[in-house]
Amino acid sequence: MKHRVLVVGGAGYIGSHTVKLLQNQGYEVWVYDNLSMGHKESVSPDCLIVGDLKDKDRLDHAIMIHRIEGVIHFAASAFVGESVTEPAKYYQNNVVNTLSLLEVVRKQGIKKFVFSSTCATYGTPDRVPITEDTPQNPINPYGETKLIVEKVLRDYARAYQIGYAALRYFNASGAAADGSIGEDHSPETHLIPLILETILGKRKEIEIFGTDYPTPDGTCIRDYIHVDDLAQAHILALDILKPGQEIKVNLGIGQGYSVRQVIAATEKVTGKKVKYKESPRRAGDPAELVANPAKAMKELGWKPKYLDIETIIETAWNWHRKHPNGFRN
Ligand code: UDP
Repeated sequence: MKHRVLVVGGAGYIGSHTVKLLQNQGYEVWVYDNLSMGHKESVSPDCLIVGDLKDKDRLDHAIMIHRIEGVIHFAASAFVGESVTEPAKYYQNNVVNTLSLLEVVRKQGIKKFVFSSTCATYGTPDRVPITEDTPQNPINPYGETKLIVEKVLRDYARAYQIGYAALRYFNASGAAADGSIGEDHSPETHLIPLILETILGKRKEIEIFGTDYPTPDGTCIRDYIHVDDLAQAHILALDILKPGQEIKVNLGIGQGYSVRQVIAATEKVTGKKVKYKESPRRAGDPAELVANPAKAMKELGWKPKYLDIETIIETAWNWHRKHPNGFRN
């Protein structure tokens, strides 16, 4: 029997891709989303419950009437730069609202909880590729809020037997292979969509944030993982979680690309030149974040399908080209 799943924040970028895979794989899925960042067009209307995380009664009701067995929690604020200038928003949305959700989960006796964590919990790692035993010392409020929730989950697992998976994402990118859904943030702050928007003439140029990092070409290195590979890891985690079990894994492909390399790869995929300018560093950015994904592969039986940055960018390009205004088309 496939589980009945509530996907909180399921109308967002990674959430909607996960919902699509869950449905394709025969799960009964309900999406709970306040649509503040998510798009109602990204999920089928018959599974969407519009509601806020703070609305415990609505959540409680949804979980009860749909006899939910597992929760996947994506709803969060997730812009590193913004978290530095507006930390209150991050502590409220990511910590306080998650505690509220967990109250309902606990009360309803749900023992499977999959949580979107992040490589930002590691801060500036002492070595790369990053393994899960790397000390977690975030250097921005976004990473801090995610680390706090990881600690809450650890304590809840031990006291209340809620099984959880903290999936530490590296850089989610790309779009569904069939082009039906993709990345649409407002405002957009992520590198690959910004480059593509520049190519589409929606922006004058792309800024490279920092060219004086201690990396071979001076720009930041990140591990870009395809959103469907990321999504599949949630399903695997949901399936194997046992009451009280704690899973903490990195989700990246284990290969890093610098900002300049991503720009070059995008030029190659699109056949177009990208106008860029070199700007100062962005607050809160470590020089290099690359995963060692061995633990996820072993514990979840996970295997990323997209190992090549150009193929990942191709799926993003396919979405952006056909939906230059995102879901507003
Ligand atoms: N970046 C950049 N210019 C931009 C946006 C991002 O140079 O307009 C850099 C950013 O400093 C980081 C990398 O691209 O090193 C990936 O940033 P993104 O915001 O996509 O993801 P994050 O790593 O913050 O989750």
